[in-house]
Amino acid sequence: MTPISIESGAVLGVLGGGQLGAMFADAAIRLGFRVAVWDPDPDAPAHRLAAHSFPKPFHDRKAFDEFASLVAVVTYEWENVPAQLCEQLEQTKSVRPSSDILRTIQNRLVQKNFLADGGFPVPRFVALTNPQNLNEVLLQLGYPVICKTATAGYDGKGQWTISEPSKRSEIQESLRASAQVGMEWIVESFVAFERELSILVARGIDGQSVVYPLVENEHEEGILRTTIVPANVSTSVMKQAAELAHAVVRRMEGVGLFCLELFLLPGEQLLINEVAPRPHNSGHYTLDACHPSQFEQQVRAVCGMRLEEARLLSPAAMVNLIGADTETIKSDPDCRALLDLPGAHLHLYGKRTIRPRRKMGHVTFLADQRQTAHDRALQFRRRLLQGHGPDSE
Ligand code: AMP
Repeated sequence: MTPISIESGAVLGVLGGGQLGAMFADAAIRLGFRVAVWDPDPDAPAHRLAAHSFPKPFHDRKAFDEFASLVAVVTYEWENVPAQLCEQLEQTKSVRPSSDILRTIQNRLVQKNFLADGGFPVPRFVALTNPQNLNEVLLQLGYPVICKTATAGYDGKGQWTISEPSKRSEIQESLRASAQVGMEWIVESFVAFERELSILVARGIDGQSVVYPLVENEHEEGILRTTIVPANVSTSVMKQAAELAHAVVRRMEGVGLFCLELFLLPGEQLLINEVAPRPHNSGHYTLDACHPSQFEQQVRAVCGMRLEEARLLSPAAMVNLIGADTETIKSDPDCRALLDLPGAHLHLYGKRTIRPRRKMGHVTFLADQRQTAHDRALQFRRRLLQGHGPDSE
């Protein structure tokens, strides 16, 4: 479709209604748009902000016709929305990023091949189409490796680490047990990274892209727990990451907001772990510490508006509230004291049911110094861990 910009007042369609969709809707409303949210779950947070709500299955034909007739442009907040639906919507409306990009990103093997073909640095990887062939793959890669389902995994789900030969048969059994028809896996060399980093990049319909500051991420049990900005790395690493981000979205010809997850290796070498075609949890700090936020930039990109240079207004550290953490912050006096500090910003997603590993909200600590923000985040995280921890409900 010819790139067009979307007039203020138009309806922006978003597939997926989680917190990312809700924060996108909030930014869109502030810029004078209305939002149509399509998510099968009637309790999904973004429905609350929607001018038009579609709590219908993604294959519902009537919902499709109505949604397609209402919206001026479509985006998505999650890479596991059906690519076929995006393709069908693309017959009449612009979908940004495109369904082609979504298809590439949805499958880790296709994504890694795309990146490797483009000459981008990624961990060594091999495709596994049958668990029976795991041994051959391990002979090629050596140990340790991480084996991931090619599709549908997120937050560490569908992943197995094989640290040594004695673990092989056990994991092979798990793969066999979980295998469905046509299932594939990607087996990657396990990277001994120094840090996990990420960088947001937006690209407009005119092909211009802007990057955000490089951030540093800490995970617990495969889930992002803390993001610190700016990352404590050299300016040469920052420059390298920014160049990678610009180059990846240029090669994708992507329009929208993207995030590159990166591994920093000794010797200042960067590898791309994966690319998300949407705002990212590690970019939530932008709501309080940047102008514009990642969500506003996403609106700007998908609507063909001018992108704004991303300016970091303050060092920051973001901590995710996972599972019963939202209960801990109510009962723990130390948590409350930290939340009362100037520069602490609490965001709750309004999810009705608490479940282990479910992202319920986040807190961003702003401070004059990066170290102060990080220290507050660490203290807060320690209190949360004493309360519950991601997996203990
Ligand atoms: P992913 O779902 O691919 O983002 O992986 C989730 C987490 O698993 C990452 O944030 C890393 O902590 C870890 N991980 C993924 N791939 C690798 C790898 N090749 N080597 C080491 N750790 C990895």
